[in-house]
Amino acid sequence: MGRLRGMISCEEALGHLWELIDGELAPEDETAVRRHVEVCSRCYPRYDFQRAYLSLLGRIRRGEGPSPELRRRLAGLIPGAPPEGHDPGCGSDTSSKE
Ligand SMILES: [Zn+2]
Repeated sequence: MGRLRGMISCEEALGHLWELIDGELAPEDETAVRRHVEVCSRCYPRYDFQRAYLSLLGRIRRGEGPSPELRRRLAGLIPGAPPEGHDPGCGSDTSSKE
């Protein structure tokens, strides 16, 4: 690393996409990869997608994902999904283990 100077190839850019989005690249590498994806019509959609994907993932991890309301509606779309807060009831060991 540290040697991505000038215009890099699509392969190089795509190979560092996650690191770019994660902010794990050295500043000069980040510049090179970012400069590539910003002008490359092949790489930009992937960068855009991965960035959106990661930010959604991050929001879910931080508990800022879909609202409870949305989650309920999503759960309603999945056949057999238990309602929120309801124990599916598989297993009869209801905390009698002391
Ligand atoms: Zn490219």
